Amino acid sequence: MAKQNDSKSTEGFATRAIHSSRDYVSDTGTVSPPLWLTSTFEYGNPNGFDYTRSGNPNFNLLDATIASLESAEFSTVFGSGVSAITAVVSTLSSGDVVVAEENIYGCTFRLFAQVFAKFGVEIRYLDFTDPASLAAIAEHDPTLVWIESPTNPNLKIIDIAAVADATHAAGSTLIVDNTFASSYLQRPLEHGADLSLVSLTKYTNGHSDALVGAVCTRSEEWHEKMVFAQKALGLQPSPMDCWLTLRGAKTEAIRMERHCSNALGLAEWLEAESGATTVRYPFLPSHPQHDIAKKQMSGGSGIVTVDFGRSLEDTLHLVESLNYFPKAESLGGIESLCCHPASMTHAAVPKETREAVGITDSLVRFSVGIETLEDLIGDVKAAL
Ligand SMILES: *Cc1c(COP(=O)(O)O)cnc(C)c1O
Repeated sequence: MAKQNDSKSTEGFATRAIHSSRDYVSDTGTVSPPLWLTSTFEYGNPNGFDYTRSGNPNFNLLDATIASLESAEFSTVFGSGVSAITAVVSTLSSGDVVVAEENIYGCTFRLFAQVFAKFGVEIRYLDFTDPASLAAIAEHDPTLVWIESPTNPNLKIIDIAAVADATHAAGSTLIVDNTFASSYLQRPLEHGADLSLVSLTKYTNGHSDALVGAVCTRSEEWHEKMVFAQKALGLQPSPMDCWLTLRGAKTEAIRMERHCSNALGLAEWLEAESGATTVRYPFLPSHPQHDIAKKQMSGGSGIVTVDFGRSLEDTLHLVESLNYFPKAESLGGIESLCCHPASMTHAAVPKETREAVGITDSLVRFSVGIETLEDLIGDVKAAL
C-alpha cells in the first residue's frame, strides 16, 4: 500500500497540519476541501473507492494529515477513539496476553474486562512508573504492551523510549494512547512505539463537535490490519466528522500553545495559592516524572488534576460553583471543563480500588480551555 506520509518531512507541524490535505481532486479551485457525503461509489473509478465503510476521500485527507502530524507513514481513521481501540484489540487471538499500564483509560479497561475477556484475551496491569515493570514485561510474554502518557486522571508520565526498548527485547509490540498528550506535544513513534492511537475527538478536533479516532504506524503490516478492521468490523467514521476534524487539526498547533500556557498558569496558581493538597501537571517541577515529561513532550498539555483535600460534599459543591468549567466528561476542546472522576469517569470502579490508585473523592480534573487565563483563575478562586 502507498504510504500516506513520508515520515522524513522537514516542514513544521503547523505547516503540515494545513497543507497535507491539499491533494484532492477538484476542478473548482476550492481552498477548503469538499465533503463527500456518499455511501457508495460507481464501480471502476480511478481511486478505487467502492463503499464508504471501506474508504472515502474525506478519510484519506484526514489520514494523510494525521500520519504526517504523528510522524507516521500510515494512519487509519475510525468512528471514535474507542473504535480505534477495538480495531487494535480485534487483531488478538484467544490466549493472547496484553500487559497494560494500571491507570489506563476507563473505556479501554472496560473493553478488555467486559468484552474481550469473553474471547479469551487476557490483560495484566503493571505500574509503568516503577522501573521493575520494565523487567516484568518479558515474564508475561505479551502480544501487546499498552500504555498511555500522561494517564487519566493521575497524569502519570511513562518513559515511552524505555518501555519500547523493553517491549521489543521481549519480542512484543508497543501501543501508546497519545490522546492526553496530543500529536503536537508528543509523537510516540519517534520514541520507538509501534502504534500510536489518538482519540481525535479531543485535541485534534478541539471543538467538541465530532468523534473520530486514529491508529498511526510505520508498519505496512499493521496498516493492513487496521484497514481490514475498519471495513470488516464496521468501525469507519462519518465523512462529516472527518471533515470537521480536519478543519480542527489545522489550528491544533496554535490551540495547543494556549492550552499549555493556560494549564501551566492555572497549575502554578493552584499550587501557590489554593491550599490544595496536591496539584499534578507534567510541566510543574513538583511533578514526580517531570524530567521524563520534559524529555518526551514539548509542553504539559491542557489537563490539571488537583486534590483539594476536602470532603466529597465540599468537593462536589466546589465543582458545581464554577462558572467557566461546566461539569462534563471529555477534554481537549477550546472550552474549559471540569470533571469529578470519583462520581463521573471512574464511578464504576469500587471505592477501595479507586483510592488505591489515587482517585480520591476530593480529586478534581480540569480540562483547561483557551479562554483568558485571568478569568479561569478568578473563577476557581471565587469557587474556593
Ligand atoms: C476519550 C479517550 C479515548 C476514547 O475516545 P472516543 O473518541 O471518546 O471514543 C481513548 N483514550 C483516551 C485517553 C481518551 O481520553
